[in-house]
Amino acid sequence: MQGQGNSRCVPVSLCLKHRVPVSRNVYLALIHYPVYDKHKAIVATSITNFDIHDISRAAKTYEVAHYFLVTPLKSQQELGRRIIRHWNEGLGGRYNPSRQVAMGKITVVDSLEMAKQEIFGKWQARPVLVATGAKIQEGFHEKLVTFQQLRTDLQKNLDTPYLILFGTGYGLAEAIYKETDLILEPIRGVADYNHLSVRSAVAIILDRLFGDR
Ligand code: SAM
Repeated sequence: MQGQGNSRCVPVSLCLKHRVPVSRNVYLALIHYPVYDKHKAIVATSITNFDIHDISRAAKTYEVAHYFLVTPLKSQQELGRRIIRHWNEGLGGRYNPSRQVAMGKITVVDSLEMAKQEIFGKWQARPVLVATGAKIQEGFHEKLVTFQQLRTDLQKNLDTPYLILFGTGYGLAEAIYKETDLILEPIRGVADYNHLSVRSAVAIILDRLFGDR
């Protein structure tokens, strides 16, 4: 990827430069409440260090506007902010500057509502909410969009903010699917096994929406 003089082999920064306009209006939210636990009860999950790091790095790689870590639990908010501060201001950033760059894209917020308000403050427009999930959501077929449809919409609507929602625990609660405008078709692998980590799902989805074709 680092070679020059070959159109299939351009520096990564050059590819990114071309992608920036396409994803600059796109936000990610990792929802820790309301989500399901394994008994289908609505719970607030704990934040995960890996989700902070790996999704921030994917967010930066695909130059999305911002990544919101959504949790109403104060102790979890404090923990999340402490981890982010360590990389933004503390020893972590000096030790690993590229990680610091990625961590510039993440903030912790109380609720989905708060993320929406922050986006509204920047764009003077409410974001189009796009939910994700491992399964087709029964009862919401009219909201279903394919990767290709969403990719095309995003290329056309550069002045409209989009907020893509990802779940934790056993997935987003029905209330979230009710609220969203669109539901992205699930990623299908080749096996019946369908248990991607959210970090893998984010990376695959960002690449299908913004990656080279
Ligand atoms: N504790 C889990 C982990 O290992 O990351 C969290 C699982 S959580 C249910 C996974 C989230 O990733 C889903 O809510 C959805 O946002 C996304 N996801 C997982 N599999 C997916 C798929 N096949 N298609 C689309 N999104 C998927």
